[in-house]
Amino acid sequence: GKGAINNRMTNNLMRRLEEKGVPTHYVEEINDRDTFVKKVEIVPLEVIIRNTAAGSFSKRYGVPEGKKLPVTVLEFSYKNDDLGDPLMCESHALALKLVTKEQLETVKKYASIVNETLKEFFLEKGLKLIDFKIEFGLYDGEVILADEISPDTCRLWDVKTGEKMDKDRFRRDLGNVEETYAEVLKRVKND
Ligand code: UDP
Repeated sequence: GKGAINNRMTNNLMRRLEEKGVPTHYVEEINDRDTFVKKVEIVPLEVIIRNTAAGSFSKRYGVPEGKKLPVTVLEFSYKNDDLGDPLMCESHALALKLVTKEQLETVKKYASIVNETLKEFFLEKGLKLIDFKIEFGLYDGEVILADEISPDTCRLWDVKTGEKMDKDRFRRDLGNVEETYAEVLKRVKND
């Protein structure tokens, strides 16, 4: 049932982000597992935002997981399976013509709004937004938010217990995957 949960959660968050001025691919949820979206040409960049050290950041720099970062980290990876999605800096993305400078500025502006919006929203639900990955696409030449936002693409830790409420549950074999995903959706939908 993870797909249905992620579908509904993504749509819920996309609608909220639209209200905050971030254009998204969302058009209409058809049922549990199907959604009409605007067909975009995906920008081949994984845009990662980090509020707290975890995962590859902790590993790469030897920082303990859970250490709050004094600044928000914005990171890019080149979406390319053959190359293993390598970490990339802005000038690399421009040199490879993956985006224009103007598009990159828009991506950064929207990424920051997404972070501020989701951080506040999840906190109200008792969840700490550790880090997340988003993707953008081009639609009619404009940059819009696409892909998904779910516990598969965000690290969410319970504020009170510190429990991991995201895909690390199955990647790290922590158990209760279904229950945890359902709990996150329940909190997100509960207004
Ligand atoms: N992420 C993702 N897809 C990817 C890579 C990362 O959704 O292909 C998300 C991941 O869930 C986490 C954040 O981006 O919320 C940062 O991931 P990290 O670089 O720490 O790598 P990971 O530990 O997930 O391998």
